[in-house]
Amino acid sequence: MKTLNDFNFENKKALIRVDFNVPLDGDLNVTDTNRIEAAKPTILKVIEDGGSAVLMSHLGRPDGKRNEKLSLKHICSKVSGIIGVDVKFIEDCVGEKVESAVAALRPGEVLLLENLRFHKAETEGDKGFAKQLAKLGDIYVNDAFGTAHRAHASTTIVAEFFPGQKCFGGLLAKEIDAIEKVMRTGEKPVLAILGGAKVSSKITIIENILDKVDHLIIGGGMTYTFVKAQGGQVGDSICEDDKMPLALDILKQAKEKGVKVHIPVDVLAANDFDNNADTQVVDVDKIPEGWQGLDAGPRTLENFKSVILQSKTILWNGPIGVFEMENFAKGTIAVGNAINEATQSGAFSLVGGGDSVAAVKQFGFENKVSYVSTGGGAMLESLEGKTLPGIAAILG
Ligand code: AMP
Repeated sequence: MKTLNDFNFENKKALIRVDFNVPLDGDLNVTDTNRIEAAKPTILKVIEDGGSAVLMSHLGRPDGKRNEKLSLKHICSKVSGIIGVDVKFIEDCVGEKVESAVAALRPGEVLLLENLRFHKAETEGDKGFAKQLAKLGDIYVNDAFGTAHRAHASTTIVAEFFPGQKCFGGLLAKEIDAIEKVMRTGEKPVLAILGGAKVSSKITIIENILDKVDHLIIGGGMTYTFVKAQGGQVGDSICEDDKMPLALDILKQAKEKGVKVHIPVDVLAANDFDNNADTQVVDVDKIPEGWQGLDAGPRTLENFKSVILQSKTILWNGPIGVFEMENFAKGTIAVGNAINEATQSGAFSLVGGGDSVAAVKQFGFENKVSYVSTGGGAMLESLEGKTLPGIAAILG
């Protein structure tokens, strides 16, 4: 696996695919700079070697058309401030004007190209467009994990034009390393904690990780499909009846593979999907009609904590309850705290996939786990065992 450290960028131009798809407010100010900060070490490595950096990214979904609101010019000064270099901007990402701007770059300089997705050819993975992009660098660096699951021109196809002259950026290398630790090389016991709303969106992940983990904690809305499938009463809790056979099959597979599955034994049930609803703690398989489980109960949280504290490698995907409502956030917070404790005692913990990161950030856990993934969809596909095209293109 080639990384930045395999190259010396002196007098070279690095064409870097970054993920600057950052949120902007109504006045087009960047409201979350995490993704820019995450790309900083890669850009600095190129500059410090004495090279120049050509940055390419998408922003939002302009659907192949120019859209002023989605111009990357709005983020240029933010990028300059964060990396500490006056970043130049050019209002397109391919063509003669862009090629001249790149040719004029001197060592230490950084050029940000316009939003790649102003061209339909980007998301179509067009080879001609990728070839035009390839003219803009001597070495291709992919540091955009968030789009590594897309075979777009700038994330995948462009790599074909850089045989032997392509590598992963620092961020993408860290993401790959974290996934490897959970899926292959992590110290045992390995634990996966899967929460979130529905079983249907997690089936492929569950099936894939049953071969990799020793323990599986199931939480969140998924719980009730498993409980009802085993004959429990789940009241008005979220439940996918059509997935009950599948839930039973997963439990059977887990047993055959020697994976210990931990499902809530008690829940905090509410008489409405509302933060101010009446609540009661009930056994998970005796939830009365008119009540729905919205968070894990105290006995469950004790069980979960003890499993977490025994584990040496931990993957967390999906909240344990409806964490957006304060009164049903306790389970998610308790699991986060236990992971923090395990991490401090030497466990490796990875949080990621889908919306998991939102919960982690809301409660300030991002610095208390070993690694928080920057890619929602890309992490989910990795956990499903898929080879991401953007990663395969660098390896190939
Ligand atoms: P996902 O995108 O599948 O990870 O699901 C995240 C969502 O699951 C969050 O918005 C939670 O509010 C929701 N969730 C977690 N537990 C429950 C539950 N017991 N009932 C309904 N929704 C839940």
